[in-house]
Amino acid sequence: MIHGEVRTTCPYCGVGCGVLARVEPDGRVEVRGDPEHPANHGQLCSKGAALAETLDLAPRLLYPEVRGARVAWDTALDTVASSICAALDRHGPESVAFYVSGQLLTEDYYVANKLMKGFLGSANIDTNSRLCMASAVVGHKRAFGADTVPGCYEDIERAQLVVLVGSNAAWCHPVLFQRLVKAKSDHPELRVITIDPRRTASADIADVHLALRPGTDVALFNGLLVWLYDRDEIHSLFVDEHTEGLEDALAAARAGAGDVEEVAARCGLGAAQLLQFYELFARNERVVTLFSQGVNQSSSGSDKVNAIINCHLLTGRIGRPGMGPFSLTGQPNAMGGREVGGLANQLAAHFDLDYPSHRALVQQFWKAPTIATRPGPKAVDLFRAVEDSRIKVLWIMATNPAVSLPDAGRVRHALAKCELVIVSDCVRHTDTTRYAHVLLPALAWGEKEGTVTNSERCISRQRVFLPSPGEARADWWMLAEVAKRLGFAAAFDYPNAGAIFREHVALSGLKNGGTRDFDLSGFVGISDGDYDVLAPVQWPVTKDHPKGTARLFGNGSFFTPNGRARFVPVTPRAPVHVIDAEYPLTLNTGRVRDHWHTLTRTGFSPRLAAHTIEPCVEISAHDAAELGLVECQLARIASRWGSAVARVRVTDFARRGSVFVPMHWNDEFTNAGCIDAVVNPATDPLSGEPEFKHTPVSVAPLATAWYGFLLSRRRLTPGNATYWAVARGPGLWRYEIAGHELPQDWASAARAVLCAQEAEVEWIEYFDKAAHRYRAARLAGGKLESCIFIGPDPVLPPRDWLVSLFGLDALDTLTRAGLLSGIPGNGNADAGRQICACFGVGEGSIRAAVAGGCVSVEAIGQCLKAGTNCGTCVPEIRTLLPV
Ligand code: SF4
Repeated sequence: MIHGEVRTTCPYCGVGCGVLARVEPDGRVEVRGDPEHPANHGQLCSKGAALAETLDLAPRLLYPEVRGARVAWDTALDTVASSICAALDRHGPESVAFYVSGQLLTEDYYVANKLMKGFLGSANIDTNSRLCMASAVVGHKRAFGADTVPGCYEDIERAQLVVLVGSNAAWCHPVLFQRLVKAKSDHPELRVITIDPRRTASADIADVHLALRPGTDVALFNGLLVWLYDRDEIHSLFVDEHTEGLEDALAAARAGAGDVEEVAARCGLGAAQLLQFYELFARNERVVTLFSQGVNQSSSGSDKVNAIINCHLLTGRIGRPGMGPFSLTGQPNAMGGREVGGLANQLAAHFDLDYPSHRALVQQFWKAPTIATRPGPKAVDLFRAVEDSRIKVLWIMATNPAVSLPDAGRVRHALAKCELVIVSDCVRHTDTTRYAHVLLPALAWGEKEGTVTNSERCISRQRVFLPSPGEARADWWMLAEVAKRLGFAAAFDYPNAGAIFREHVALSGLKNGGTRDFDLSGFVGISDGDYDVLAPVQWPVTKDHPKGTARLFGNGSFFTPNGRARFVPVTPRAPVHVIDAEYPLTLNTGRVRDHWHTLTRTGFSPRLAAHTIEPCVEISAHDAAELGLVECQLARIASRWGSAVARVRVTDFARRGSVFVPMHWNDEFTNAGCIDAVVNPATDPLSGEPEFKHTPVSVAPLATAWYGFLLSRRRLTPGNATYWAVARGPGLWRYEIAGHELPQDWASAARAVLCAQEAEVEWIEYFDKAAHRYRAARLAGGKLESCIFIGPDPVLPPRDWLVSLFGLDALDTLTRAGLLSGIPGNGNADAGRQICACFGVGEGSIRAAVAGGCVSVEAIGQCLKAGTNCGTCVPEIRTLLPV
């Protein structure tokens, strides 16, 4: 156990916040934001602040397993190595693949890429980061000649105009969004524009929200390019001296653009509103365009990125303070993966797989027997290669593709057919580990060490503050052990993560001399001691710039062969699959505020789970009425690829014709909510990034005979429920349930679910047979042990007061009297759905405060503290205030 506060980095999003973690003498872990970290200056969002609640060892994979049996590490590693060896011998290097993750540390990523591309001999390694930012990589490389994010977070604070395109930063990059909120508060003249078919929480501070028609971003930015050019709003000197290709890009843009009215009509916007955006863009010199998955996750994602960059090149707004196109990465180390070549079409250290001279240099540096000569399959295609048995051995590291890839049912089918699936993970039960023949226990956050790189190219250390549990090991160690068994001991003889970082650094500086953007040569020969205390720093780090580099391209020099940035001609394209009579709505998927990926971490925090306890489908009032859907009802969302069930949430924030469903839920937390089973597998032809934001779907009421919920201190199997979703509560599990058929005998059915056979329990029951309402509570030793509420419709008592009763040692008479009504006997209101995760404040409490005269966010903060810590819930608080 490490004593004292340890400086580390949050393992969730690409903001890359610094965290100080301390293990208290009683074993509890305390975390707080690191005031010295340049990304967050001490702030954390709700997810970061709840990190200590996610360290439970119960769900962990702690020992190696082969075909369901616990084995020694040697046995597991021998199995992996011999299987890879046999596949290589029989079927060649294309028969083995790695599918890795932006959750890996850079050192893990480096070793995985080196083993695959230099020693196994193919580029069959791709990453789940493909799913979030591969289009940005293509856009950067086409325009800049390298995968370079030109600016830094500080630019957002120094801008006059910040444009958020396809980015709900308020929920997905919360601390960065709070920096923008503060900048706007400090400088009210700062303008913010959000461009997104949905009105998200990020629009809370927007001066203009453009709810464009899904998929029309290229038309919108092409229109801007033409509009700027025609009004001579260009930086002629920059364009003449530092760019090429403007004429072609303009010709392409003009071909599909037209005047403002035509562009507006194409994008589904009002002309005046569009003109307002164009004029703001023209008027303000310092413009930052933040873009994220709403741009990248598209079959034309690469073109959308270049359409944005074209406008910045035309105006010369790049490489200087307060301006530039800015890609926000989703995962904590998506950028680190890009540095080491974690994508199937990259080589390490921003060397190019397509250049024979680069391949030769890397092979020589690694002293490798071979080097991949052509790109491997990108994520979706990689699983197609598994499905048709071209890939025989698949090693999945730190990710859950059975849930997170589009057309997830087909991915599961591929995994079920694969000869050998190896999964290294820190979680025992995921939808993917179910298909594993070999399970390798990995160290988790707080136990492993290495580096990560955030969206602004800032490298930060993750450090150890917890002991390694069970037999869990670092991912790089597993890879190196397998490499040694394959006969490559000399090249993989790493004593620690620092040694890998040293090699990574040395490779980045190899024959670089400023020809490649990724350069850490300033760290060449870094000692273990200096690696241990490495402070956050933005690459490139060279002898001339030992403290790193905040911005690139300020000198107008790019990484293309002639040093000029390239305008890229782009033409609007319709999504691959378009709506029709059978599937008339567009499905958009993404994150909710307090959850992360497939719930393998945040799903175990009661505080985080309380905000959104089950999958929901957000739909406009107009569409809901047309489809006969009402609030809180269950609905089936279906596409040509699959179907899922979610709770209806009718909202003004949904665009007519579009629905939104969160991406997080999986078979561990619901029996029917995996939305990626519905998502179409179309990809961008250049980046291979899937079209998560545009799947034609139908939405229809789910036929149910009853609805209910179930609260229990034990995890249960919800018997005859045809739909269930479970969430962690404080000391209990919260189930939402529904069924197609009414049981003959409700009491027996309920007691079967809640375990009636134990002797020392007391039952309180209520049954209105005519109304089909059944309610029961099970008390053990005077404590509430479980309760179940059933009714003919989704209108059921609020849950939060009932949840709070699980914290009591005994129920008094008044409480018992109110128990089966679900209403506090003391006249207090139910706190309602959690809004503020930091202080546990519910919607009911906020509504009561509003009724009592608190009519501003500040007044709510003073009364309830809600919204006064991380600020992530402020947009939701505002929706509860009188207009
Ligand atoms: Fe972690 Fe991202 Fe929140 Fe920062 S903003 S605390 S990195 S989840």
